[in-house]
Amino acid sequence: MTTMFSYRNMKLPQTIERLPELAYNMWFSWNDDALELFSKINRELWDQFLHNPVRMLAETHPDVWEPLSKDTAFVKQYEKVIQQWDEYCSGTTWFQRTYPEFLNHQIAYFSAEFGFHESLPIYSGGLGVLAGDHCKSASDLGIPLVGIGLLYKKGYFNQKINKEGQQLAEAVSYDFSKLPILPALDGQGQELIVPIQLADRTVQLKIWQVQVGLVSLYLMDADIEGNSQWDRDLTAQLYGGNQDIRIAQEILLGMGGVKALRALGVTTAVYHINEGHAAFQAFERIKEQLDAGLPFHIAVEVIRASSVFTTHTPVPAGHDAFPMPMVEHYCSALLSRWGEHKQAWTQLGLDPSKQLFNMTNLALNTSALRNGVSKLHGQVSREMFRSFHGNIAANEVPIAHITNGVHMNTWLAPELKELYNRFLPGTWATNQTNEDAWKLLDIIPVESLWEVHTHLKEKLIRYVRSNLREHRCRNDMPADKVEEVRSYLSAKALTIGFARRFATYKRANLVFNDLNRLDRLVNSTDRPVQFLFAGKAHPADLPGQEMIREIYRISQMDRFRGKIVLLENYDMNMARYLVQGVDVWLNNPRRPYEASGTSGQKAAMNGVINFSVLDGWWEEGYDGTNGWSIEGNSGADGDIQARENTESIYRLLEQEIVPLYYNQGKLPAQWVSRMKRSIGTLAPVYNTDRMVMEYTNTTYIPTIKRTMSLVANQYDLATKVADYKNFIKANWHFVKFLEVNDGSVKRPLNSTDRIPELSQLTKEITSTLKFGPIWYKDTVVELLYYVEQPNHQWQQVTVTMNAVKELDNRVVQYSATVPAHLRHGSHFSLRVRPVSPNFATSFEMPIVTTF
Ligand SMILES: *Cc1c(COP(=O)(O)O)cnc(C)c1O
Repeated sequence: MTTMFSYRNMKLPQTIERLPELAYNMWFSWNDDALELFSKINRELWDQFLHNPVRMLAETHPDVWEPLSKDTAFVKQYEKVIQQWDEYCSGTTWFQRTYPEFLNHQIAYFSAEFGFHESLPIYSGGLGVLAGDHCKSASDLGIPLVGIGLLYKKGYFNQKINKEGQQLAEAVSYDFSKLPILPALDGQGQELIVPIQLADRTVQLKIWQVQVGLVSLYLMDADIEGNSQWDRDLTAQLYGGNQDIRIAQEILLGMGGVKALRALGVTTAVYHINEGHAAFQAFERIKEQLDAGLPFHIAVEVIRASSVFTTHTPVPAGHDAFPMPMVEHYCSALLSRWGEHKQAWTQLGLDPSKQLFNMTNLALNTSALRNGVSKLHGQVSREMFRSFHGNIAANEVPIAHITNGVHMNTWLAPELKELYNRFLPGTWATNQTNEDAWKLLDIIPVESLWEVHTHLKEKLIRYVRSNLREHRCRNDMPADKVEEVRSYLSAKALTIGFARRFATYKRANLVFNDLNRLDRLVNSTDRPVQFLFAGKAHPADLPGQEMIREIYRISQMDRFRGKIVLLENYDMNMARYLVQGVDVWLNNPRRPYEASGTSGQKAAMNGVINFSVLDGWWEEGYDGTNGWSIEGNSGADGDIQARENTESIYRLLEQEIVPLYYNQGKLPAQWVSRMKRSIGTLAPVYNTDRMVMEYTNTTYIPTIKRTMSLVANQYDLATKVADYKNFIKANWHFVKFLEVNDGSVKRPLNSTDRIPELSQLTKEITSTLKFGPIWYKDTVVELLYYVEQPNHQWQQVTVTMNAVKELDNRVVQYSATVPAHLRHGSHFSLRVRPVSPNFATSFEMPIVTTF
């Protein structure tokens, strides 16, 4: 096989010879000096190529390099960037300092999409941008992480909006040789091809490599010779196609990803799946263990220990589920090779209520540690998957949360970085979570912050006008309509931004519920408000596209012309302009459907103030002083919630936001102080450095340690745990409560002669249980009751009962001391469940008997 020519090997004059090295590392995308360096080659081309440095190398005329290599300003900039890059590669990192003994344990991070930069269009929205930001912070912190994903020939899609406001999904075919990616090579320097079984055939996957700072990302590509056309198209498009394509893509991602890791020789210790799409990684790894001779239940235990699952979807319908026969068809090679376990395989993903194979069920069954992506989403996920875990309280369901963040160097405006550099301690950028450093925001003069902000807003407005101009020219609108956009928007007006995927739960059109009231805000002569909207709707999401049409129609009304604007083709480039340049970031999803949301976090660090429903991250980020909360009864049905939220939006705009913004002599001092509150309280928390450190401390390292102990000495502990679970499952029906004795009131130990308060009285409850073959010490017996909190919520209190007497025949008596007024049945209940110090979480087995 021949190795393709690549611009990575391009020969450039010696003074700038490492430009290709910079172009082929996504590090350029979060280094402002590197971005500037590439733009200096030719600013027009740089914009035209969507800031893709490899295309700059490929399509810059060869005669340009020689003079450029003698241009002192360019060479100086080049040297500055190279120095930063070399320092970046050689510095000691947080991980090296904190976990030196784990440097050789790689974490594989699987995701269906990755958003690093507009030049590598393999993302659709927040999930991908999160994955990209995760990898970038992992690189900054020195986490030994590799990414695994798919390389889509046509990316997601380019959005065009026609004269009627109709979204047109334009497919683009990318030339991989001009993207910042390279074929991954094996030890002999040959391109790596990995075979994967799909239904009745073998699909060959070519592996590509993207460098993300110090992190490598591997992308699989089915579009190679030898595969059938249907198979080649499997990696054509992100989230494109029908269920068949979807399941095939997920098999390529999960199972193919594991095979790619093996072919690359990555010593993977943790398999972290970003959403359920990659859950088939478990199938491939169980198969490997079976091939190595392990029994099925032990194989599951081993791979479960080393898998981490992050769930992102708070709506049951949002989880991928496939008919069983479809799974059996596409996994037929695996299922026939290990036919005796067919039932066990399919059971791993079975959603019994629908008889479908659900990727989230598969992920939950095969991942020891799981998390949601905000505090509220953790709670919602625990509620949603409660039935999956047996009869326990929602807060006991073993799903934690790690709140999302964003990569500060990617999203923070260069102009603000300069300002922060001038006033904050130098560690603000390297030690972002240090809140003390951010306290010094106070000393930034009001006029300095306002000046930078105004500059960013003007930059945004120029960008918006050129986006609109392009749109109108393409749609053959008359010259005067094209020229008109020059007068659109004003840098003086309060500017509100709303940009995200046009998924219906995000309710992009909420603010249009009362056009007359909106009119009064927008067209106020002395205190006008203007709105910017942008976002793509999935090509199959017709209601989402209808929202685009509605916003477009309103933006064309005479009374809103140039004041409410819809931009086309939302991407990371546009996102940067928006989150850095508007005054207020609006987010009004239907609660609690927004698992986290991250665009508001990008806005916050740029001094853009959040105005949002208390959903996702904002529920924990909002502190009453750092933005605004859109109110409404989130327990109510959709229409009522929408009406209440709309009312709250208008009211807050009219009574608080507009007055605060326009309360200015020469400078809006109070507004700027609110901006500082927002930056100071939110930037140190909602960044991916904090997030990735949290993943490392609470998830990756414990996963590595537990897996190591499970597999040591020929899987000794894994075998014990797996056998133990089987034994418990087979014999649990023997475990029975025989009786409970409500006990009699005792006087408190420290009581004096006075009659004690009723609430101080306690009593001893006893209960006897029969255990059959199960050893009682392998269980815990608990007494549960509820106390009312000051907020009128009832909180569960769990008292562990002590074994006080072993009677005959594996009957054991337990006791516990509780408040005297509790009665069995009406106030408290008892339960018994299996426990083990070798479990990853305390409610690992969904088995509970209550009494
Ligand atoms: C950050 C980002 C998102 C995610 O926005 P949410 O507010 O979390 O929905 C989506 N698309 C792009 C291009 C982004 O940069």
